[in-house]
Amino acid sequence: MSLLVTYDAQNIFAKILSGAIPSARVYEDDRTLAFMDAFPQSKGHTLVIPKVDACNLFDIEPADLQNLIVETQRIARAVRDALSPDGVRIMQFNGEAAGQTVFHIHFHILPMWDDQPLGRHAGGGMADINELNALAAQIRAKL
Ligand code: 5GP
Repeated sequence: MSLLVTYDAQNIFAKILSGAIPSARVYEDDRTLAFMDAFPQSKGHTLVIPKVDACNLFDIEPADLQNLIVETQRIARAVRDALSPDGVRIMQFNGEAAGQTVFHIHFHILPMWDDQPLGRHAGGGMADINELNALAAQIRAKL
């Protein structure tokens, strides 16, 4: 698939935004939604998405991207304060060849610990929704 993709309104994150698919929501406002990754690569793996139809870094408006990265910083701070990881990795993929699997732009917030390797990207097991909701509440409490 090329980087010049047309936005597919049926993608999983569009369905999460509309509420058609449930998610463990951390934060929401009129421009942004943050929720727990259902197949987490580490405890507290959080996704931040804009409420605009953009597939990737190349087709989002600069003002929307600016808002998205500032919100990612704010939510990453809350993840850090809630879970006390040794490090936090921010990831963002563009195009299938780069590892992107959902074609609605998003930033990954991955808390990391010295003694714990990251799980596989988009290939691990599905997390328990109650556990994800508990983590979301822990993170939200630090916002
Ligand atoms: P990408 O590969 O596009 O950078 O990341 C997509 C992410 O979405 C992956 O980390 C994957 O685990 C996550 N994901 C896929 N399907 C769902 C879902 O239905 N709900 C949630 N919360 N996350 C999902």
